Amino acid sequence: MKTETLKGGADATRADGGAPIILVADDEPVNLALIRRRLEWEHYRVETAEDGGQAVEAARRVLPDLVILDVMMPVMDGLQACRLLKADPATRDIPVIFLSALDDTDTKVRGLSLGANDYVSKPFRVEELLARVSVAIRLKLERDRLRQRAEELRRSAEAASEMSMTDALTGLLNRYGLHRALQRELSEARRYDRPLSCLLIDIDFFKSVNDTYGHAAGDTALQQAARVITESVRGSDVVCRYGGEEFLVLAPETGLEGARALADKIRQSFAARLFGEGAHVFPLTLSAGAAQLATDESGNDMIARADEALYHAKQTGRDRVEAAG
Ligand code: GH3
Ligand code: MG
Ligand code: MG
Repeated sequence: MKTETLKGGADATRADGGAPIILVADDEPVNLALIRRRLEWEHYRVETAEDGGQAVEAARRVLPDLVILDVMMPVMDGLQACRLLKADPATRDIPVIFLSALDDTDTKVRGLSLGANDYVSKPFRVEELLARVSVAIRLKLERDRLRQRAEELRRSAEAASEMSMTDALTGLLNRYGLHRALQRELSEARRYDRPLSCLLIDIDFFKSVNDTYGHAAGDTALQQAARVITESVRGSDVVCRYGGEEFLVLAPETGLEGARALADKIRQSFAARLFGEGAHVFPLTLSAGAAQLATDESGNDMIARADEALYHAKQTGRDRVEAAG
């Protein structure tokens, strides 16, 4: 991080790369002009307001890095403006420095208890105001940076955990993701006493696609197959890449006949199109096994029965669906 001297607060930059913005509210035009000029000399960007209401409105609009509020202003005074700024989540974290001829402890305490960061008594030496401004700005920008960093870390952690549950080639859930989804669907099915079924789908003779058209064409076909399956099922169904050219569909609120019909619908969608791209397109068929969760059966037992049914479909000619009885 860049180190700044006390007076060099304006050397710091906002997250958007611009110079810090300071909002100054004072009902005395001469004061306002003086403070504005000195802050602009220090390369701050300056917005001004002539009473508390204007200051609150401007703060919400420009989201400055610091608000300097004169305490005594007509219409709405600085204390009331500070109260409003601190009550609004959008402006709550903007530091506030009070500026006032009222040098009594009571007003200072009220200002500070409202959440103001600092207090400068009028008449003040400009150097003192600039020094306090510099400190407040540096703390504010440093906190913004930490928050931004925390948000970035949170997002990349989220992306990492999502990726570890997702298959890189097809974007479907992988087996780990399936495990999580299966736990959820099992407990829903049991709690509400609703049927749950699964389909195990295996593409027929897929090895010959790789052998004939190459591995890249095989990869493309797997992506297309994943899309065909996803587009054939309901939004509440869960589709997962179970292995190389094997897919598993979890169908909540679906009995065995519904599962068989769903598998056949997917089978027909496969048969109705070509896979691959450009000059290398080819038909594909699939075989599938369907099973419905039995009472007191584990999710893995259900999948094992779907796998047996799939094996049966392969044995009896492929391009077919078998349901586990
Ligand atoms: P069957 O009808 O009995 O299922 O025959 P098959 O050829 O589909 O079955 P087999 O299990 O013998 O072969 C599966 C093939 O799937 C072999 C493997 O190279 C291919 N495969 C698995 N994963 C991928 C992948 O990610 N990309 C590509 N291109 N091919 C894959
Ligand atoms: Mg296979
Ligand atoms: Mg296969």
